[in-house]
Formats: sequence, C-alpha cells, structure tokens
Amino acid sequence: MTPPDQAGIVVVGASLAGLRGAEALRRHGYDGRLTIVGDEAYLPYDRPPLSKHVLAGELTADATTLPQSPSLRAEWRLGQAAVALDRAARNLHLADGAVLPYDKLLIATGAQARPWPAGSGGTLSGVFTLRGRDDAARLRVALERRPRRVLIVGGGLIGCEAASCCRDLGVPVTLVDPNATPLARSLGTLIGGVIVECLRAAGVDFRPGTQVLGLEGDAEGRVTRARLRDGSTIEADLVIAALGATRATAWLAGAGLLADSSGLTCDGACRALASDGSADSAVYAAGDVARWPIPLYGGRLVSVEHWGNAVEQAAHAARNMLAAAHDQRPYDHLPAFWSSQFGINIKAVGLSEGADSLAVVHGSRASRRFLAVYGRQGRSIAAVSFDQARWLPAYADAIAAGCPFPPILDATDQIRIETLAPGFPPPRRSDEAHHG
Ligand SMILES: Cc1cc2nc3c(=O)[nH]c(=O)nc-3n(C[C@H](O)[C@H](O)[C@H](O)COP(=O)(O)OP(=O)(O)OC[C@H]3O[C@@H](n4cnc5c(N)ncnc54)[C@H](O)[C@@H]3O)c2cc1C
Repeated sequence: MTPPDQAGIVVVGASLAGLRGAEALRRHGYDGRLTIVGDEAYLPYDRPPLSKHVLAGELTADATTLPQSPSLRAEWRLGQAAVALDRAARNLHLADGAVLPYDKLLIATGAQARPWPAGSGGTLSGVFTLRGRDDAARLRVALERRPRRVLIVGGGLIGCEAASCCRDLGVPVTLVDPNATPLARSLGTLIGGVIVECLRAAGVDFRPGTQVLGLEGDAEGRVTRARLRDGSTIEADLVIAALGATRATAWLAGAGLLADSSGLTCDGACRALASDGSADSAVYAAGDVARWPIPLYGGRLVSVEHWGNAVEQAAHAARNMLAAAHDQRPYDHLPAFWSSQFGINIKAVGLSEGADSLAVVHGSRASRRFLAVYGRQGRSIAAVSFDQARWLPAYADAIAAGCPFPPILDATDQIRIETLAPGFPPPRRSDEAHHG
C-alpha cells in the first residue's frame, strides 16, 4: 500500500468521465492513493436516462447511480467543489478550505446547462434546466402536477427528448427553435425534417425559425407566458430551457490554463495546455470539459458532449497519466451518440459539421427508418440511423478509415441511394459538438 502522506492521483468531477477514468487507472495497475472530488452530493450517476426514463416516471432519479468497479478503492470527497488549482505547488483547493496535493490530476468537471437569463424571466418559478438528477427529479414532480402547457426552448437532443416524454404523459407542449428544424446543427435540416414530422404527429406545437425573447410571471412569481420574436405569445406554466451547455471551467480561472466556457484545451494526449501552449504533464482532462485536436477531422479542436467520449477519453487519459513522457499516445476517437424520442432510436457516428452532401443508403426518410451518410468534399464524415442501426458499425469503420462518399455501395438491404443537400445552418463561432 501507498503511504498515506503520498499525494497520489486526484480526479475532479465525480461523474461518468471521473469514475471511468479512476477505474481505468486501477485497471492499468495504479495502486496508489486515489481521491475523487465532486461538487454534487451523489456518487456518480448516469445522465442519459434523466431526459428519457426519469422524466417519463419509469425510473426514479436515484436509480441512475452508475455501477462501480469493486477494485476502485477511492477516497470520495463528495459535495465539495474544487475552487482553485495551484499548478506550481500541485495543490487543488476545495470550497471548504481543504488543500489536496496531487502528483497527477484528472479534470473531468463536465458541463453545466446554460440557464435562461435572469433578466428575462429566468428566476420565475416553473423555469427549469435539465442537467443533473436534482433537476430531473424536480421536473418530474412539476410534470406530475399536470401543467397546462410546457414550453421547451431549444430543439437540441434534450429539448426533443423532453418534448417526447411530455407528450407520452399527455401534457400539451410547445417547442420553439431558432432553426427551421430541431437538431439542425447536429443532423442538418433534411434529417431534422423527419423529427418535425414526429413532433407534429405526437401533437407538439412546433414553432420553427423564431426565438423566445422573454418570460413573464404572475404576482406570485410563477411563469405564465413567453413572448416570441415573431410577436406571438405562448401561455405556459412550465418552461424547460434546453439551450445547450457551457463547460465547467470557471474554477480554473487563475490556473494559467487555456480554459474558457467552451472547454479546457488539451493536446492530443489529453494533457491540459498552459496559457503559453505548453502541455502540463501533471494535469489531464477528459469528457465534456475537454477540447482537443481530433485526428480524424484534420486535428481541429473539438469538445464532444457525448457519453461514449467521456468513457473512452477518460480511459485514454488514465493510460497516459501512468505512461512515461515518451509514451504518450494520441487520443483518436470517432464521436458517437444515441437518443431515443418519439419511439425512435437514433444513433449517430462522426462529426457532421461542414457536410456538403447526404446520402440515404438504407431505408427511407418517409418510413422514418433509414441510415444516412454525410459527405464532405467527397469523403464520408458521419452517419445517422433512425431505427436502422444494423449496418451503422460498418459505416463507422468506413468513416474512421476516411473512405470516399458514400462509402459502401451495394450493401445488404441497400435499395437505392438518394444524394441530397443536408441543410446545415451557418456555423457557430467555435467548432463544437453539442448534445444539448
Ligand atoms: C439529460 C442528459 C441526457 C443525455 N443523453 C445522452 C444520450 O442519450 N447519449 C449520449 O451520448 N450522451 C447523452 N448525454 C451526454 C452525457 O451524459 C455526457 O456527455 C456525460 O455525462 C459527460 O460526462 P462527464 O463526466 O464528462 O461530465 P458530467 O457528467 O457533466 O460530470 C461532471 C461532474 O463534475 C462536477 N463538477 C463540476 N465542476 C466541479 C468542481 N469545480 N468541483 C467538483 N466537481 C465539479 C459536476 O457537478 C458533475 O458531477 C446526456 C446529457 C444530459 C445532461
């Protein structure tokens, strides 16, 4: 055993990436002191069920706890936020004044939901965001009280999943999105059009191409109404702001790292970069908080807010944390996510940003069962399936291998290939994949 005075490895962020990173350290033979710091009071839990099964009432929020490896042997510091990092002294400062020394640090502080602005009604009761299990539990209680109408602001994955759950519960829903379709950024408006059909078939009042300007409340401070840019108003007594997420990096101010609300920049080996661009060999990052150069897409900086990345990147960072300086391996990852909504199982691989073409290679959009591939300048860069995931792994391999577009011809079940324009909105300021 390691002497108790040894600093050992500290993990900040007790969620998916933190837990999986810590487990990987043990798997790779690390036997020293291992401390996991988390600002939530809970042991690591899983977020994907929150916007699906917890809202629907099929699972309680406390049933989302992640399984833990029996060989973890970690010291937990839960309900304690890390508030500062002193890299010169290799000390992590916690909110209660404690100072934790470290030999190596894994930053896995993830992201937080972007709130509705306080000045536009964000402090009214009945206005929610959905990121953690407390949010999901509170939202579930509010849904059980049968709101007259739920307004969902933002048609990303969480907005659409929440809309789907509300309709399953029979609650009236309006969904407002600035783009022509939901999921326009991640899937393009052509595939987003299939979601529009699902929303409308489920009875969602979908308002595309407009924005909520402000929320208004009654004398008791309860939300009652939203004003839209198109001049209309929506009467709603429950609002879910599904506006995406910002990375939890505020606590790193003053640490001298390249960090902002879009992420903590790392090198290809998951080492955090200092403000001068040099890698700190004692500080690694993984999961939603990390922004790193992705080899498959020309080394452009991305941060990926998906479950699979949190697991893989944390395991990769853990491996490098224990390896010698000359043996730091680059993190080569094919991003992937899934979603379930309106009875459809959506799975996607790759990064579709910048796609200039789209081919439906299996099934059809009309049947809402299909597999489509995104191309850019003649190369296959991403694929999405709606209830048609059987061949997705083959397309994922082709995308990872940089195959031409479309990558596989004459495949089993392939009837005819339609090549179309994917219809992406203009790019955002930074290159990011958002789950929210
Ligand atoms: C509602 C919801 C549904 C989702 N559904 C899907 C899905 O269907 N498919 C998919 O691929 N992905 C999905 N995701 C995304 C996936 O859950 C995330 O990518 C994953 O949780 C990232 O894990 P993480 O550990 O990097 O970050 P997080 O899960 O955000 O965990 C970070 C942890 O660090 C803590 N923390 C932050 N700051 C500090 C600090 N200063 N000190 C101490 N602790 C701190 C946070 O409170 C949190 O507990 C969903 C996410 C949400 C919110």
